[in-house]
Amino acid sequence: MKKYSRGLMWFRRDLRMTDNYPLFHALRQCETVFCLFIFDTHILSTLPPDDRRVAFIDACLDDLQRQLQQAGSGLIVRHGTPQQIIPTIARELNVEAVFAGRDYEPQAKARDQHVGAGLQSDNRSLFLFKDQVIFEIDEILNGQGRPYKVFTAYKNAWLKALRSEHYRAAPVETLADALASVPQALAQRPGLKEIGFVPPAQPVPMAAGSSGAQDVLQDFLPRMGTYDAKRDYPALRGPSYLSVHLRFGTLSIRTLVRTAMSAMSTGNQGAATWLSELIWRDFYFMILHHYPQVVDHAFNTKYDAIEWESGPQAKRHFQAWCQGETGYPIVDAGMRQLNQTGYMHNRLRMIVASFLTKDLGIDWRRGERYFALKLNDFDLAANNGGWQWAASTGCDAQPYFRIFNPITQSQKFDPDGKFIRRYVPELASLSGKHIHAPWTASDQILSTAQIELDRTYPRPIVDHNAARRIALARYRELKDSKIWENR
Ligand code: FAD
Repeated sequence: MKKYSRGLMWFRRDLRMTDNYPLFHALRQCETVFCLFIFDTHILSTLPPDDRRVAFIDACLDDLQRQLQQAGSGLIVRHGTPQQIIPTIARELNVEAVFAGRDYEPQAKARDQHVGAGLQSDNRSLFLFKDQVIFEIDEILNGQGRPYKVFTAYKNAWLKALRSEHYRAAPVETLADALASVPQALAQRPGLKEIGFVPPAQPVPMAAGSSGAQDVLQDFLPRMGTYDAKRDYPALRGPSYLSVHLRFGTLSIRTLVRTAMSAMSTGNQGAATWLSELIWRDFYFMILHHYPQVVDHAFNTKYDAIEWESGPQAKRHFQAWCQGETGYPIVDAGMRQLNQTGYMHNRLRMIVASFLTKDLGIDWRRGERYFALKLNDFDLAANNGGWQWAASTGCDAQPYFRIFNPITQSQKFDPDGKFIRRYVPELASLSGKHIHAPWTASDQILSTAQIELDRTYPRPIVDHNAARRIALARYRELKDSKIWENR
């Protein structure tokens, strides 16, 4: 005998049937479970009509619908605000409880509170379950019972706490009998056009849904062993490219941790490094949960006092950065990769974020917002964490701050200029020696490569060495300890 007769599974960042904790709990506790996804107008209203991610979600819903139909069920899709839709649909379907995965973003938490209150006033309940992380909220605390602020200590505690049950898959399939079919009156699904969007000219360059996620994972498995050796080189297929699938939950974090743990047990060093990256993901969700003020403020509030550049020159610089026209090829290649594909390699995210905040002296929040608009895998927790790390305003504080040198970073991580050539084709004829800093090449070399500085490719918009001195002065008043430069 189950606890409830009818329940509703509300899919959000978990667009899959397999190993889905909230769905598993719904099926375990309810005789009959309906499935719902809402295109949330609060979120959609801030996006351009050709946003890649909305089309990607739409394709993920096709896949999810197929999975549910194969199990004799289906997906109800609505367009509007959850605050309004959930209580209404719960009444229409006469469900006693709604189940969803827990979200850690401040706005999402406020939304869930509102939805929960609406349901409660109608004698129904909202149940939230951990699904998108391995450890959440207060599960990993330091000796004083406080959240960790330093990643390495958090990681060690995370690894120490990890047991196989933390990454065991939820056996949803065994309970699939309880899935309900979609009532005729709710069967119509709004298309992209009806929710105000169009297919993007350059869609997310990978297959959507759980099947797409499985393809990406299968492609990565044989490469996992070389992850630590290759992950910093944007021209190589080093990383997993799974971030967009993790973002929308088309595969479960438990599957990935299980995969990494099993590879590590055979001595796979790449797997250990990759697992660390998955732990960074948990870490930033935990930070956002405990310190929601980081959305608008420096984690270390003393850095809120930094005087960032503003005015016409900063405006021009920001524009050049967004468009990949800074005159620093590695920065421009990264920004163009972002603009064209919605993905940017992690090493390049660090380089371009350092360039914006340190070389151009522009507020990290502006870069963070630009990434939020463009990244397929945009995730508030990881993006905010990454930007604050790059701007040296975040947690995991060091007694120094990093200023990446865009030329030496380029020479080190794209030594032959292969990646630069892919995204900055106007420099393609330059040799590996000159491609990192075209303005240092002789007139003859430039002319042979058919490059005319400031016409076919810009000169650097700032001089790195001068910019570095200004950055040091900008931070000096706020920093008391020694300065370190990452070359
Ligand atoms: P892999 O190297 O294969 O890593 C596997 C997974 O681990 C990733 O998919 C991701 O979920 C997680 N991960 C890896 N690195 C990090 C990290 N530093 N912090 C948190 N999680 C991590 N990642 C996002 O998912 N969304 C963002 O919006 C985002 N913004 C970033 C902004 C900046 C300025 C920086 C420096 C990093 C940002 N990252 C973000 C982290 C990282 O760059 C991406 O997760 C990674 O590049 C995605 O590619 P991948 O899936 O091939 O990663």
